[in-house]
Order: sequence, then structure tokens, then C-alpha cells
Amino acid sequence: MGENKSKYRTITSSIATALTAASLVFAPMGSSVLADSGYTDINEDHSHYEAIMALTESGIVKGYEDGTFRQWENMSRQHAAVMLYEAFDLEEPENIDEILALYEDVRVDHRYAKQIAAVTEVGYFKGNDGYFNPSDTITREQVASVILLARDLEVYDSAEEQEINLDDVSDSHKERVQILADLGITNQHEDYRPRESISRGAFSTMFHKLNIKVDELGSEYRLFDNKVIKDINVDDMYDNIAFLSEEPREAGTDAEKAAVDYIEGELKDLGYETEIQPFPLYSYESDVSIEVNNSELDEIPHAFSGSVSGEVTASLEYVGKASPDEIGDVNGKIALIERGDLTFVEKVQNVLDEGAVGVIMFNDSDEGNRFGQVQKGQDIPAAAITRENGLVLVDQLDEEELTVTLDVNVEQIEKTSYNVIASMKPDEDVDTGQLVTIGAHHDSVPGGPGANDDASGVSAVLELAKIYADYPIDTEVRFITFGAEELGLVGSSYYVDSLPQSEIDRMVSHFQMDMIGAREAGADHPAGGLIMYTIDGEKNMVTDFSAASANRTLNEIVPYGQLGRSDHQPFHDVGVPSALFIHSPVEPSYHQPTDTIDKISKEKLLQVAEIVGASAYQIVRPETPAIEEFDVGRDLIDYPFEDRAVD
Ligand SMILES: [Zn+2]
Repeated sequence: MGENKSKYRTITSSIATALTAASLVFAPMGSSVLADSGYTDINEDHSHYEAIMALTESGIVKGYEDGTFRQWENMSRQHAAVMLYEAFDLEEPENIDEILALYEDVRVDHRYAKQIAAVTEVGYFKGNDGYFNPSDTITREQVASVILLARDLEVYDSAEEQEINLDDVSDSHKERVQILADLGITNQHEDYRPRESISRGAFSTMFHKLNIKVDELGSEYRLFDNKVIKDINVDDMYDNIAFLSEEPREAGTDAEKAAVDYIEGELKDLGYETEIQPFPLYSYESDVSIEVNNSELDEIPHAFSGSVSGEVTASLEYVGKASPDEIGDVNGKIALIERGDLTFVEKVQNVLDEGAVGVIMFNDSDEGNRFGQVQKGQDIPAAAITRENGLVLVDQLDEEELTVTLDVNVEQIEKTSYNVIASMKPDEDVDTGQLVTIGAHHDSVPGGPGANDDASGVSAVLELAKIYADYPIDTEVRFITFGAEELGLVGSSYYVDSLPQSEIDRMVSHFQMDMIGAREAGADHPAGGLIMYTIDGEKNMVTDFSAASANRTLNEIVPYGQLGRSDHQPFHDVGVPSALFIHSPVEPSYHQPTDTIDKISKEKLLQVAEIVGASAYQIVRPETPAIEEFDVGRDLIDYPFEDRAVD
């Protein structure tokens, strides 16, 4: 663990500098282990008996040559060094002389030269101003640091902090003494007596308790899930959804802007640097009429999206589906085309190439006339009609020539939608330079209040932003709610397009939460139907971390699958590992006016907030290095691919 180890040492050495105390000469420690009958001065009535026996058995402590343990004697720094050396099988450094050159008072012929060099090399001790002070006693606060460092517990994720009086504890040991209390290693919460010496017996008991605790904890104590999870307030999430879903938040409307302002205000209050990013939305209002031999067609035709405005009068020519070999003489005429086989753009281009001056296309099914588009440069009035009317015209053309007036009036309407972006940057000296984004979309479909789609995701963005704001980070985190997702990922595409390449290069993962609270979604799939969809159907960093956190925090196996259709798409397209969190298949009220707060399950909200919150925190918290060198919290969990349709 190259990078991680060196980082760890910089943390530990600063604490070890404080390891000095008043001098107290200590008798040399004997080398012979006493018979298992025990020490001459210890019996089972002594309060430290059990700890001393356990540590003796595992070879961590030894008594004196005269058969005593002397549990009331104070522990010296050199004996602490010997004990740690033995307990952790530290390696004898090759360059003992170089290491000991740090200290004025320990020479290579010192009785414990090897051990002192070894504990110095791993960073448990550092001395003070060039002195190791081998015979000084070790204080209770120093012991707190040393034993926690020795057991890799210099950081600990406690579900609940114990109240302990830290007033007299040196700053460099405060966190460690707090951890001892949280772990239940000390119950001297009123007065830990931090500056006092510690007896060999009390030291043994403390160390023994810590060993038991470490065994209990397994490997999960460094993951910090509890930090994130314990503070998630699902009632606040629910209230935010209720508030946001009072009315539809269609992109480009005042209701969207009100939601945007609310979201930004919440994020700003949490201390984030926020930005409302506006972007244009284009829509069209059109008015189309078609007259055939001076009588108006009995439907309201639909203008192709992108069609130019214009009125043309010309004879009508039926060209089938407008493949090049079907097109007869259409020069100067209006082409009547059947939908199907080729794309709209191809068909239009084919008749344009032959000199057509207008396009009327009829449907290839009975599903109305709302279809069709042209692309830039195809400057021709184009309109869609029903199959029924189209076939009538085809029949009529068999009988007679038809003169048609096609009048298309298109007005482009520009509206504005918005992304809300909130950023929290780490301190420069710890910055990994990387960037994690956590997103949802705040717009809804027209007429749908969008409680689940996607006020639910927004509520999780706000909640996780609240929690992350309280903790130190070493990786920039951005919470983003996108506008106009429902119109084709317009906001997220705009956002990603607006980023310079240097910023995209910093992005290591995107978590997208869209529709994470519907009680009725997910049918009877496990984990409430939660699934992580990626664009390419492959696992990635986001799914790995989240599968692991789901397994740790909820004991759930969350599968992955393949789907776009939400704002993870543009991130994937520029190479950012990303995934969509959703309960699938979706609920019956999807995109309906019935997508209301009463359909929301707090349990599901909490589930996704916990999984995403805990996994993203593994990346941004300062105890973990940059993501490439990183294994904590990413233990490979077996999670399956599922070919599951979302609707
Ligand atoms: Zn939607």
C-alpha cells in the first residue's frame, strides 16, 4: 500500500512528537517468559489479571526475571517500544544507525536500539527535539495515540460519540482519546487524567480491550458509513418532495424557476458555492393548413420539427416512401410521401434533390399526425397528416391531378431552463484534484407533479449535500440538479458541454438518482427493485462502490443493468464512470398526474440515500487517497447483471 502508507505516516508522526514525559527510571525487562502458572505478584483478584494473562499468552508482555510483573509500576517509553515491536512483529530495520541518528540519547548499542529504531520507522514514535527519552514514562494521552496507531485505528467511524471531557487533553491527542471513549476502551469520561503516567497493569488492560474491540470490528471500522448514514433525515427528504411536487415543474416555466431558486437557496445555506446555470430551450408553435383543389383538408396538419415557414402552391406528386427509385418527376411539385423504411431526413433530402418545393407525409399507422422532422439546411415547408387522409389523396391522384396549397407558419419560441450546481472544494494541501458529481433532475413532465420523477432524487441530493457539508473532504464534490431532463437530457448535456476538458479529466464518477422513492416501483424484485443502470451495461467505479456499500450498510445485493434515458448519459459520453439509481420497473404513475407524494416510500428514499451517500463518501473523504490507488470500501462484491426493462 505505497501511497496509503506514506500518507498514514505523515499523520502519525505529528502525534508522536508529543511523546515525552517526566523521567522515571524503569527496571530492564527480562527476556524469559514465565511458566504458565503465572507471576509471583499477580493473582486473579487483581483487576488487570485477565488482560495481563491474555497479553502474556500471546507474547505481547513479559514479566521480569525475578518472576514478577510489577503491574503498579509505570510504563516507560522504551518498554512501550519493546512491547509494540513484539506485538506487531515489526521488522528489524536494516539502517538502524541512520534511524537512531535522529536521537541524541539512543545509540546503536542501546539495549533496545533495534526496537526503538523499528517503532520509529513505522511512525509510532518520533521523539522530541532530537531525543527519544527512553526512560521517560508514557502518559495516558500518549498511550491513547500509540495503541490506536498501532492498531490502525487512528480514525474510527463511530455510530454515536460518547461524551468525554477533553479539556485537559493536548490538542494532538484529543481525537484519539475521543476514539478510546467511543470504542468503550475507557469509561473515565469525567477525567481521563491525560497527563498522568500509566501503570503496566493499566496499559495491559487498555491494550487488551482494544485488541478485543479490533477483533469485533473486523475490517469495516475505517469505512465511515455510519458518519453518513446516521444523519440522513428521511422526514426532511419527504418534506422536500412534498414541497417540490405541489405543482408540475415543467422545464422553462415559472414553476421550474421557483424550484430552482428553492434548491439553490437550500444548498447555499449549507455553505456551498452555488451557481444557477441558465440554458436555452427551443420550442415551436406552428399553424399549418393544406388546401387540395381549393378545399381545405379536414384535419389540423402537424409541422415537421425544424420546418421552415412558407406557402407553396403546386401540383401534388405521390412518391411512395421516397426511396430514390420510387421518386418520379417531383421537380417544382409538392411530394406526397408515406412514412416508414427511411428516416424523415433521408426522405426529405431525396425529394429535395429532385427539386420538390414542399413535403406532405402521411403516417404508416393509425396513430395521428404528430411526427416528422427536417434537419438544418433542408429549407422546405414540411407537414405530417394522418394515414387516412394520406390514402385518400393517393386514391384521388389515381383519378386526377391535384393542386395543393401548403401553408406552414412556424414560430420558434425560446425559453430558459436551469441547472443548479453546488460545489464544495477541499483544502488545497489535501486536494486530490479529482471531482465527484452527484445529480438528479428537478424538472417534471407537463402536467405531472413529479414527486418520484424526480423530486425524490432532488431530495437525496439536498440531504447528502447537508451531510457532506459537515465533513472534511479531499476531493471536490458537486451536487447538481438538472433542468429539462424530460425534454431529452437537455440540461445535463448543456452542463457537460460547458465544462473545459481539464475539468472533465478531473471527474472520477457521476451518481445519478432518478425516481428513487416510488412504493409501487420495482415489482417483486429484491432490494425493492433498486438497480444501477449504466450506459454500456458494464460495471464501473460507481457500481462497484455502491454494490459494496449496499452490501455493507443494508445487507442487500443490488444488481446492475443497461439503460440510458437519464442524466448519466452525457457524463458517460465524455468518459466519466456513471450510473443511474432507480427502482425498476417503474410505477404505474410514471409521467402521470398521479405521481404524487402519497406514492412515496420513505424506506426506499432512505435506502438509496444511504447507498449512494456511503459509497460516494468513500471517494471524497480525506483518509482515502486518490481513487486509482484506492481499495478501502471497494471490496469486490458479487453483484449480478440483470436484463431488466424499466417500463
Ligand atoms: Zn421522467
